[in-house]
Amino acid sequence: MVTAKQSVTWYREVWNRMALPKHRFILWLVVLDRMQMKERLFRFHIVADDNCLLCGTKKENREHLFFECHLSCQVLELIRDWLGWHTAARTIPKLLRWIAKARLTRFRKKVFSATVAAMVYHLWWCRNEALWNHKVYKVSIVVERIQNNVKNRVRSYMPNKIQQIDQDWFDQL
Ligand SMILES: [Zn+2]
Repeated sequence: MVTAKQSVTWYREVWNRMALPKHRFILWLVVLDRMQMKERLFRFHIVADDNCLLCGTKKENREHLFFECHLSCQVLELIRDWLGWHTAARTIPKLLRWIAKARLTRFRKKVFSATVAAMVYHLWWCRNEALWNHKVYKVSIVVERIQNNVKNRVRSYMPNKIQQIDQDWFDQL
């Protein structure tokens, strides 16, 4: 569970209008650890095993899916390079805390937290594709979907007042 103190720092990052509503909703459920991960379902005898659907070698739980699993870890690496993230944070709470505290313009913070939400959404989508359609998508495809979603959404929610340096940075993404 998220404590009241933690939620103060994170709140703005999770409920960021620059993230698509369905992305921030999933992110919020993940932050609260309310997703129906296989480890939990297995404990209640709802599924036959608790193996991760993406790698098949580890237990599927929040920490594994975001971002210990090799597929999600690669997605995170590519997104870090794409946005020039200078952080060693490898979990959702740490990433959100880093964004909240980083010395960045509000615009960049919004783009970054919208990207965290998009990553969570698409990795969960990817996991569901593996579950229901027995399809495991390539890392490059997942990353492309995240990038396109973020770019399109930010373009349509572009603030009226934006520093030129932020505009130039966003245009080259
Ligand atoms: Zn895995």
